Amino acid sequence: MTFHCDKCGLCCRLLKDVPQLAAFDRGDGVCKFLHGNLCSIYENRPDICNVDKMYPAFASIMSRDEYDEVMEASCARIKEMFKCETRTRPAKN
Ligand code: SF4
Ligand code: SF4
Repeated sequence: MTFHCDKCGLCCRLLKDVPQLAAFDRGDGVCKFLHGNLCSIYENRPDICNVDKMYPAFASIMSRDEYDEVMEASCARIKEMFKCETRTRPAKN
């Protein structure tokens, strides 16, 4: 399996849960470098935003395939969470 990012940009809207990216939070949990759904500093993004660069930190406990599965599952959870928020958010007057 190879990790596939569909560029939804949702993980870049959850910086309140990522202390390492506190300086990137524009104040509402969204990264100040997110333009639309894309990273405007993609080539120079921090390692924590780079699935490939983070794998070595997990290599002793899981294979690359297992890591990719964990990443895909994490993206699926994030997408589900945003769907739920949209469903439960009160309608604006
Ligand atoms: S949540 Fe997953 S699929 Fe969406 S942009 Fe982030 S890494 Fe890519
Ligand atoms: S630096 Fe780029 S990849 Fe990292 S959270 Fe910000 S927009 Fe997303």
